[in-house]
Amino acid sequence: MSDMSKDLMRQAAINLKKAVPLMLKHQIPTTPTNYALWYAYVGEQDPQLNEKMDGIVAQYSTCPPVNAHLLYRDHISDPVEVDVIDMRQNLEAMTVELAQSLKDTNHDATRFQKRVDNNFNKLNKIEEEGVSLEKVLGLVRNLVKESDEIRLSTEYFTGQLQKAQDEIETLRAELKRSEKDVYHDALTGVFNRRAFDQDIDGMLAQAPEGCCLILIDIDHFKKFNDTYGHQLGDSVLKAVAKRLNESCRDGTKIYRYGGEEFAILIPNSHKRKARHLADAMRRSLEKVTLKDRRKDQRIDNITASFGVSEWQTGDSAVTLIERSDAFLYEAKRLGRNRVMPI
Ligand code: GH3
Ligand code: MG
Ligand code: MG
Repeated sequence: MSDMSKDLMRQAAINLKKAVPLMLKHQIPTTPTNYALWYAYVGEQDPQLNEKMDGIVAQYSTCPPVNAHLLYRDHISDPVEVDVIDMRQNLEAMTVELAQSLKDTNHDATRFQKRVDNNFNKLNKIEEEGVSLEKVLGLVRNLVKESDEIRLSTEYFTGQLQKAQDEIETLRAELKRSEKDVYHDALTGVFNRRAFDQDIDGMLAQAPEGCCLILIDIDHFKKFNDTYGHQLGDSVLKAVAKRLNESCRDGTKIYRYGGEEFAILIPNSHKRKARHLADAMRRSLEKVTLKDRRKDQRIDNITASFGVSEWQTGDSAVTLIERSDAFLYEAKRLGRNRVMPI
């Protein structure tokens, strides 16, 4: 083994020795993605990554799967490595094309060099032997023509390169968007049910004490659809999600739980704080207004009901959700637009 690869091996071993205890400490599952993340973390090669991970661990006392996935995507994975077969194939095809183009240019360049050498040899001979002006001009003309050819070929190559780079950029952006869809709701942009299922399991798997769940259901939502149409119903959902999201700070996350239902996960909190948050959300929803252009009407009667529960010993995700749901039902029964328990 060369000295360099020995050094690399030694460094890898050192990093791994640092990464594994950290992962144990923060109860990180030992998946390849997590290994890669924590390996990068202890290697301290990407300050931004470390900063983000420190922030997440400070909030959640771990790195929830959804956050880990997004960090991996943004900081570790190579676009070609990401498993979106279609785009991967596109990227590969472009790389092949680029390599061919490069080869062609090299080929042209080598040929050109030979011809230039040839012409210069002839020029040298002219100096030595003395030839007519006409012959000299002919040689010079040849040189100019051939350098034009190589210039065009280089321009072509540069253009191709630029084009390929642009296309790769577009694909990268698309990839990011398509990946975003895995954990985000397409209509409202907040986290989706899949993210919720993973995050609540993650939250309960470690340090569940002092975490709360709020379930929210928009009141008489069907009426908006029936009166103003489905599209306006969608606008109401977007406006509600946006407003709720504005109240989510310090690790609190919002998810679209179902059609017109949202869930809020609050780590490191107790029911008092959760109820406060729910009531602040309830009041801020009362102030949401929307304009229906078709009927030229202002919609300002959007309200929602809230069920809040706090983790208790022995709770699973199912029992925690059931309790919030029961309180939500109670809030509906008592007339809606309220937080339960009071
Ligand atoms: P309650 O106060 O009891 O919650 O009454 P509600 O009308 O809000 O409840 P209900 O469950 O009867 O109706 C929910 C409606 O939400 C029914 C469904 O058509 C609508 N909905 C679900 N998802 C969407 C969506 O993505 N867009 C729109 N526009 N409507 C949706
Ligand atoms: Mg509902
Ligand atoms: Mg409803």
